[in-house]
Amino acid sequence: MKNYDKSVSMLAESKAVLAGGVASSLRASMKPTPLFAESASGARLRDVDGNEYIDYMLAYGPLILGHANPVLTSAILEAMNKGYTYGLQHSGEIELSKLLTEVLPCADKVCLSGSGTEAVMLALRLSRAYTGKTKVVRFHGHYHGWSDSIFTSFPAPDMKSQAADAGADKVPPGTAGQSENALEDVILLPWNEPEVLEATLRSRAHEIAAVISEPVMCNSGCIAPREGFLEQMRALTQELGIVLILDEVITGFRLSIGGAHGRFGIKPDLVTIGKAMGGGIAISAVAGKAEIMNLVDSGQVNHLGTLNGNGVSTAAALATIGELAKDNGAAYTHLERIATDLAAGIRGLFEKHGIGGVVNQVGPVFHMMFTDQKEVVHFDQFQQRDAGKYTRFAELMLEEGVLVRPNGLWYVSIVHGAEEVNLTLQAIDRIFARL
Ligand code: PMP
Repeated sequence: MKNYDKSVSMLAESKAVLAGGVASSLRASMKPTPLFAESASGARLRDVDGNEYIDYMLAYGPLILGHANPVLTSAILEAMNKGYTYGLQHSGEIELSKLLTEVLPCADKVCLSGSGTEAVMLALRLSRAYTGKTKVVRFHGHYHGWSDSIFTSFPAPDMKSQAADAGADKVPPGTAGQSENALEDVILLPWNEPEVLEATLRSRAHEIAAVISEPVMCNSGCIAPREGFLEQMRALTQELGIVLILDEVITGFRLSIGGAHGRFGIKPDLVTIGKAMGGGIAISAVAGKAEIMNLVDSGQVNHLGTLNGNGVSTAAALATIGELAKDNGAAYTHLERIATDLAAGIRGLFEKHGIGGVVNQVGPVFHMMFTDQKEVVHFDQFQQRDAGKYTRFAELMLEEGVLVRPNGLWYVSIVHGAEEVNLTLQAIDRIFARL
């Protein structure tokens, strides 16, 4: 048995002064205890008790180059030595913005922020200013950050799939302290249901400013869009004067250098990107159509933030994207290979041990879940997975020296290789034998 004593005692120490003992509420759910990290390098992380793990949590997505990547580290140090932030403009902002407009198909112009939540806030604001309308359509099971105007209970309660009353319910708040009215402008719909989307958009186009959607439902089961669904979303929003925002905070720079919209060949009006963009340093962006982004140029839409575009974050993003783009995008072939080997290996182990399970993979990301269903292609089905069993599995994985998120979504980095894959599959084989 591994020993987590030091993490346990540090959590108690932390709780006395840091509310909740964790800096982001989600981290509190880790079993047997939220771990305290000591250091990390490449694909490995060491905790304060001296336990080492192959890391597939990767800080919830940003560490696409792995931990302490030398190229990224030296870019950050170089930027730090020149003064980390100026509150003035600098060449790094221009260089990064140019690069983003080159690699992201939908980007004529960009805005830089610090987190995915802020990027979504700005994208929604731009959409309302551009259309002069206020309602926003979002989908069950998607996550768009924790700001009051979009954060809803997750997972959402019973949803209506009938076109007639879809989106008619009051949207439940995601947390205590959220204003009763905060979600009044949100219409919550089931995802991957073309008829519901069409009926809602056609009947309420006059009041809908934007549709916001993850291009792949990464936050709930890594569910791929049904064939034609994103295309339909694009066509309808275009026809009806509604801004289409693809929230690529997870998929941006992860599914391809051009994000999911580059991979799928969809051109949204706006995208939000974060996480992998900075390789682990806080930075996010809204990118999109000049006509909409120009509302910031004209001063009609305010975009603010003390540390926006700071030299460390732009240097980190430039270095990260540079690493991902080099050798004709070989990084993506590698990421996809590793994810495919793991996903196929896990499916094989489900079968070998007669355990019901599904692995949904879209390129370099996948979600593993325990369920007796044959497939999980809808949020309803995702809700029926055995989440408790996965949490137990994740705990057993720690014992085996593998760190995975307690909810089933796996991330890989460019420094994960065959050795990590083999060790991981061997660990799962042993755990499945005990489950
Ligand atoms: N959008 C999506 C799709 C996300 O997955 C997340 C974070 N998991 C966010 C927005 C919010 O990003 P952040 O945590 O950086 O605020």
